[in-house]
Order: sequence, then structure tokens, then C-alpha cells
Amino acid sequence: MNPSLTIAVLGGGITGLAAAHRLSTLGHGVVLLEASPRIGGAIRTEITDGWLIEAGPNSFQPTQAEVTDLLTELGLAGETVAASPEAKNRFLVRGGEVIAAPLSPPALFGSRLFSFGAKLRVLAEIFARRRQRPADVSVAEFVRDHLGSELLDYAVQPLIGGIYAGDPAQLSTQHAFPTLWESERTHGSIIRGQIAAAKTRRKEGRKPAALISFRRGLQTLPEALAARQSAGAIRVNARVDSLTAQGKRWNVGWTEDGTPRNQTFDAVVSALPAAGLARLRLAGGTPLAGLDAVPHPPVTSLFLGYRRAQVPHALDGFGVLVPAVEKRSMLGVLFSSTLFPGRAPEGHAALTVMVGGSLHPELAPMPASEILARVAPDLKDLLGVEGPPVFTRRNFWPRAIPQYNLGHGAHLEALAATERSHPGIFFAGQVRDGIALPACAQSGLRVAVRAHTFLT
Ligand SMILES: Cc1cc2nc3c(=O)[nH]c(=O)nc-3n(C[C@H](O)[C@H](O)[C@H](O)COP(=O)(O)OP(=O)(O)OC[C@H]3O[C@@H](n4cnc5c(N)ncnc54)[C@H](O)[C@@H]3O)c2cc1C
Repeated sequence: MNPSLTIAVLGGGITGLAAAHRLSTLGHGVVLLEASPRIGGAIRTEITDGWLIEAGPNSFQPTQAEVTDLLTELGLAGETVAASPEAKNRFLVRGGEVIAAPLSPPALFGSRLFSFGAKLRVLAEIFARRRQRPADVSVAEFVRDHLGSELLDYAVQPLIGGIYAGDPAQLSTQHAFPTLWESERTHGSIIRGQIAAAKTRRKEGRKPAALISFRRGLQTLPEALAARQSAGAIRVNARVDSLTAQGKRWNVGWTEDGTPRNQTFDAVVSALPAAGLARLRLAGGTPLAGLDAVPHPPVTSLFLGYRRAQVPHALDGFGVLVPAVEKRSMLGVLFSSTLFPGRAPEGHAALTVMVGGSLHPELAPMPASEILARVAPDLKDLLGVEGPPVFTRRNFWPRAIPQYNLGHGAHLEALAATERSHPGIFFAGQVRDGIALPACAQSGLRVAVRAHTFLT
């Protein structure tokens, strides 16, 4: 391999940082260009006065061996913290009451969360026949077909609110939940599909991945990746505008601290979000302009600190998800100080309330005081929270999470076609390879190997 090959990585979120790291370890020179003043993208941790606030993601579940290996490679084993065993409990709201979510099929039949009719419907699903649908369907239609409306309203919709901040009537089953889509094709029943997957996991000796973070929060991971880069390899305040072919190489044009700059690279790895891709001038055109249509509803993550005595609820779980049919202001609330140690000062509790998303985008841009005024009655009704918080931090994401809605396949095809017609340019990241943090890390590691293979 020619060690002088240099690769531009566009975007300094977890995808770009993982790609840059793997490219460096494979022996390539790397320049990472990040538009904002900081690296990490959606991952941002703040530590203030004994509170540890996650602005974006709060935890992750590395199901991919590549990602767990990366944590070991970075020497982060000692920094990792597993979620408290109590966080296994998940709560849902029905009829204004907080009820523990059933975590297994037998628990479902004993749960008072669902009616007898809904339970029968679940039982009947086990006998569903294999099916090849002629076209993708919304998650709402798919779940209604398999499990009925009650499971959709009181289990799947709130879960989707918690993951995508999305709308099941718009989300694509094929792209947002590919394993369910596959289960229907191979097993018929999605429940039998889940059982078969668990069996295979057990046979292969794989344990379900733990939910984790780091002692000093999730920002530990982007910081560890950045620390492995050589001096000057990471350029912040550097917004990429264009890629122009120069023989077999690519000239990257960017604006750095207001000054236009450019440099020619042997290959380009893009870890840009959809909006950056849509605006990118590529060989004189904008072949990815259509990606501007990928919806990214706004979300506000409102971190609230209380004295423990203000919160009568045991907070013995991950948090509460709120079904839209319950008509409350929040998508859900995480029990942050239960989840991981060191999130709140002694004698205090930390809650993280999520508002906005596809179903209530108007709530997310509101000031903290207004959001608090809306969610305080919910917190009082559901958890018994008394009085104002002693600490508040609002983190607003105007474009939080890309929605893999019906028609998302056209965007994936545009990315694949652009890669084919522009050899030496590679796309990775949350709009293509999954929205969860570990999926993005894996996407970055894999795109690095693809670029390496192309160059060698
Ligand atoms: C509020 C919230 C909560 C979440 N919760 C969880 C969770 O609990 N668990 C989980 O697993 N996942 C969660 N996620 C999802 C996960 O955090 C993200 O999908 C993932 O971090 C995205 O990584 P990325 O590198 O692909 O994109 P990003 O983090 O968006 O990074 C892209 C980077 O590209 C830069 N950029 C944009 N345009 C340009 C340009 N033209 N030139 C140069 N740079 C540019 C941006 O500034 C940014 O830094 C959450 C996300 C949000 C927003």
C-alpha cells in the first residue's frame, strides 16, 4: 500500500470519527473536516455542579462486535458503565396511570396494560403465515396487521416516539424496522421471528448487548477517537461545499473560519447528515439534492434536576414512554440518575424529558420555561413530582433524527448510484446505515474498509 494516500473525511460526528480512526489504523493519512466548532455531532455531554447532562443520546447498546472491539481498542473498557439492573423495567402510560411494560410474552398475558381482546390478538399472531408484500408499508399498517390497534397505540407508537421521535403512520417498515420486515417473510409471525432470533443468539453463545455509557458520559467516545488522530488532522469550523474530480482524485472545497480552502485527496469518505449531502456540489451538480426531503423533526431534551424528596416515584426503571393517544405534552421521560451512576449530586434525582418529534414538532422550539409549564402537570400526575426543578438544561435539536419514512429507498438508491458514478467517494452515516449511535459507529468503521479496499 502507498502510505502517502490521503483521504478526506467529511463530518466529525461518531460516523466520521470512527471512519477517520479506522483509516488511520489502516495506514492512511486523514484530514477530517467538521463544520461546527466541536467534534461529536449529536453526542454532547456537559458536566456542571455535580449534574451530568447528555444533550443528545443518553445510552447505547452495542450489538455489533466491531463496536465492542472498538471500545477495547480505544482502551475504554475501564470507563464503560453498564445501565443499572433496575433500568430493565420500562414503564408506559395508560389511562393516566404509569404501568410496567411486560418484558416477555408470558408477562404480556399477565399485564393489565392490555385488554383481553388485545392479548388474544397477540396469541393469534403466532399463527401468521409467511408473506411477501408487493410493496413497503407503514409501520402502523404492519403492526395493525400483526398485532392490532391496541398494541400499536400503547406499545409500538410510544416505543417509536422514544427511538425515532417519529410517526408510525409515515415510517417505512422495510427501512426503519428491517428485522420485522424480514421476520414476516421468513417466519410469517413476527413473534416467532423474535423467538427464533433469540434461540440462534443462545446457540451461538451471544448474550444480548448491555445498555452502556461512560463514567464521564457519551462524549468520552468521540473524544477518545479524536485523541488518536495526529495533530492537525481534525479541522473544525470547516464546512465542506464541493467535490471536484481531478483525474482519479478529488479536490475538496471547504470554508474554514470564513476563508475558502481546497485540497486534493485520493478518496473522500462522507459522514455528512442529509442536509449537508443535499447541498454538496459534486462534480458541478447536486446529485443528492433530493435528500433534503428526508424529514428531521425537531426534538428538545429537557434535563431536570430535583431534590430526591421532590420525586415520590421509586424511579426504578429506564423511564416512562407516553403513548400519543394519552394526549400529553411529552414523548417520554428518562430516569437519568437511575440509569447510570454520577448523573446527579447526592440526594438528588435527574430526569430527562423529551418533547417534539413528528407528532408534536411545535413543542420543541419553545423556551425551557414554557416546556416546563406544559410538562410539569404530566410529571406531577405520573411521578408525583412536587415543585420546580433545582436545575434545568434545555438542549434543542432543530433537526434531530432522520426519518426512514415510506419512500426512503429512493434516497438510499441515490446514495448508491452517486457512489457508483463517482469512484473514490463513499457515503456513510445516520441517513444510510441506521440511526442508533452504534449503527453509525459501525457504518464509519465499514466505510473506512471500503475506501481502503478501493485504494489498495
Ligand atoms: C436528541 C437525540 C437523542 C438520541 N438518543 C440516542 C440514544 O439514546 N441512543 C442511540 O444509540 N442513539 C441516539 N440518537 C442518535 C445518534 O446519536 C445519532 O444518530 C448519531 O450520533 C449520528 O452520528 P453521525 O456522525 O452519523 O451524525 P452527526 O452526529 O449528525 O454528525 C454529523 C456531523 O457533520 C457535520 N457537518 C454537517 N454538514 C457539514 C459540512 N457541510 N461540512 C463539514 N461538516 C458538516 C455536523 O456539524 C456534525 O458534526 C439520538 C440523537 C438525538 C439527536
